[in-house]
Amino acid sequence: MSRLAELVTDAARLDGEGARIMQICNACRYCEGYCAVFPAMERRLEFDSASLAYLANLCHHCGACYYACQYAPPHEFAVNVPKVFAQIRLASYEDHAWPRAFASAYRRGGSVAALATAAGLALFFLLAIAIGAPDGLWGRPSGSFYAVFPHGLLVAVFGIAFLFAITALTLGALRFHRGLTPNGGLGVRPLSDALTLRNLKGGGEGCYVRAGIDHPPDRLRRWLHHLTFYGFLLCFASTALATVYHYAFAAPAPYAIVHPVVILGTLGGIGLVVGPAGLLWLKRWHDAAVIDAAQHGLDAGFTALLLATSATGLALLAFRDTAAMPLLLATHLGVVLALFVTLPYGKFVHGIYRYLALAHHAREEGR
Ligand code: SF4
Ligand code: SF4
Repeated sequence: MSRLAELVTDAARLDGEGARIMQICNACRYCEGYCAVFPAMERRLEFDSASLAYLANLCHHCGACYYACQYAPPHEFAVNVPKVFAQIRLASYEDHAWPRAFASAYRRGGSVAALATAAGLALFFLLAIAIGAPDGLWGRPSGSFYAVFPHGLLVAVFGIAFLFAITALTLGALRFHRGLTPNGGLGVRPLSDALTLRNLKGGGEGCYVRAGIDHPPDRLRRWLHHLTFYGFLLCFASTALATVYHYAFAAPAPYAIVHPVVILGTLGGIGLVVGPAGLLWLKRWHDAAVIDAAQHGLDAGFTALLLATSATGLALLAFRDTAAMPLLLATHLGVVLALFVTLPYGKFVHGIYRYLALAHHAREEGR
């Protein structure tokens, strides 16, 4: 069987399994108070590919419905909503990827992250050696970060990477959004649901991902997601503010330790170390029954890149006045570049798709 035929068969099997499980859930409805998935499911009698992609992206994978389910394995109905929805989510990222040729990157998340990091590091190490001779990667440069890498060079490299990432993310999101009929605005309610991760509460008690080892549900996974997300936002705000200082006030980096740019970056960096490190640690305790093992690389690759970005950023801040600065700067920039170019093909997209699904759910409820 050709690869294309295999993919079509897999997609049909996955849709068939998703529709089978939703028909059972729609008759049962025991879990309707757990999250937004079940009220959305109850508005439907049939479950086509687009409906399943929508429901799967509404699911926050808290596991509550699996551990409550009287039809879960070893029952012959073998209902496993979190696992099947995780597989359908991955298929939805592939279906809407731009460019299409890169869709297979989602199934090679770990390798893609590792390759991009190696390429990013190689690029900046070579640039440092080429530009910074005779000091190269070690030694106190005269002046600032821009004495190692000229500002114009950094703007060109990261401008191209950023534009590519934004274009790929936007086109992918638009393709998914088009399948959510009726279309409409994004609204405030889904924003609050997304920012508070309301649907990761497992109906109130917390996330059940560790319940497989007889651990009670807890909010740890939700808090670690918050630290990661808000840490990312603070780091982004720090970079945006630095751009304003550079162009509007002619005040280039580096900045004093009490400068708003450094304070925002440090707080964000701490969140981006604790959150991703905690999420990686938590994966060890996930119940294998509810996860899709094929997505381990996708999850871990993105989370590890976030962790590496913040850890190298904090190390650069701590040792920026030493001879190690050029090496640390090249390392940090190489990792950040890898993070940028892999954003559209890593776990980052789950936040965008989930928000679009929440917005669609709010529209359906409003009707
Ligand atoms: S997951 Fe199980 S208990 Fe929950 S609605 Fe579906 S069939 Fe019913
Ligand atoms: S969010 Fe939790 S309760 Fe809702 S469908 Fe997903 S795993 Fe089940």
